[in-house]
Amino acid sequence: MSFQAPKGVSEYVPPRSALMLRIRDAFADSARRAGYGYVEPSVFEETQLFVRGVGESSDVVTREMYTFDDRGGRSITLRPEFTAGVLRCVLEHGLHKGALPVKVWAYGAAFRYERPQAGRYRQFYQVDLEAIGTEDPAVDTETIAIAWDAYRALGISRLTLLLNSLGDPACRPVYRKALQEYLRGLDLDAETRQRIELNPLRVLDDKRPEVRAQLQDAPVMADFLCPDCAAHHDRVRELLGDIGIPWTDAPRLVRGLDYYTRTTYEFDHPLLGAQSAIGGGGRYDGLSEDIGGPPLPSIGWAVGVDRIVLAMEAEGLTGAETAGTQVFGVPIGDAARRIMLALVTSLRRAGITTDMAFGERGMKGSLKAADRSGASYAVLIGEREQAADAVLIKDLRNGEQVEVAAAAAVAWLTERVLGEQR
Ligand code: AMP
Repeated sequence: MSFQAPKGVSEYVPPRSALMLRIRDAFADSARRAGYGYVEPSVFEETQLFVRGVGESSDVVTREMYTFDDRGGRSITLRPEFTAGVLRCVLEHGLHKGALPVKVWAYGAAFRYERPQAGRYRQFYQVDLEAIGTEDPAVDTETIAIAWDAYRALGISRLTLLLNSLGDPACRPVYRKALQEYLRGLDLDAETRQRIELNPLRVLDDKRPEVRAQLQDAPVMADFLCPDCAAHHDRVRELLGDIGIPWTDAPRLVRGLDYYTRTTYEFDHPLLGAQSAIGGGGRYDGLSEDIGGPPLPSIGWAVGVDRIVLAMEAEGLTGAETAGTQVFGVPIGDAARRIMLALVTSLRRAGITTDMAFGERGMKGSLKAADRSGASYAVLIGEREQAADAVLIKDLRNGEQVEVAAAAAVAWLTERVLGEQR
């Protein structure tokens, strides 16, 4: 019997997996430089947190959650997104009682029971970032800049920032009504008609051409923003201009999660086809109260690490991501193996990426392994070298060999390898 990973799960193995870490680190560096601290919230939560936080009428809650009863009879859900859990964690640990905004980021897997396809998985990875407890539009812009700079640091150049405002509890209900009235007059199937009553903004997100064609003249939120929301939105755009980040106004941009208010944005990559969103975020000024916390207007984003991998591959940005073995040890015989492991360990401690041949491979097999490793140098220790208290160092690029005293081997190799790196 053989096993396979469950359907729709994304897995990564070398060399491709190195990209995952590169992406995580680029976003982490960008977040840290702006004063965001790392949080590691629970991977699963009480189901009600997502029902109340993400929204009862959202697709995520109605059909995509991995929900089960644990052995104690509690309803548990694997996180389908980070924001609700991160906010719950911040509240539970009282971070909001200190200086505001609380600025945090997180990384890990999220789970949604979706129809698997390229760029859409049931287990996928996100970097998440949240600024909790401020209405200041400068923070909206800061969050965008942190993500933007991270994409750029990874070399991604084909990137579009789509920007919209979804209003607030003062103006959105008025818009919602106007939109519902418009949508009720269209030729739509029963399921979509139901959606008009439950969550009309989501209809704007329908990808089917026959629906899209009918949405051309749908009212847009921008025309309904109250003065406060309009001023907030204008300021975010002004500040984006100040720091040189281009955006596209996207009056029909809505998001899958119900908690968004005001600033809403998405990062799109044009080479990814249907699943072009490589990140997205926005304000969720009411979420804290929705889950039983104090009023804490907040904003944040989550970026899809799996899709960023695809975007980097589409842009040909996958080169040189493996740290690459620099030195490879070739011991001949048992006694030599013991010496070699000590030498290899010393080299690693000196900062050199080092590997060695394990098991009874013989000289030929070991040298082949050395070649295959991509190392610049092989270190050979056989009976002759042991007798001379030396090692034989072979430059695998040109075949030149030199004998070096065993005690001097680490210094000799460190000087060469690090020197060549400079
Ligand atoms: P969301 O929480 O839906 O706004 O998702 C934020 C980002 O996570 C999206 O822009 C995608 O890049 C990524 N993402 C969301 N769902 C999936 C999925 N099922 N598979 C892969 N990536 C996803």
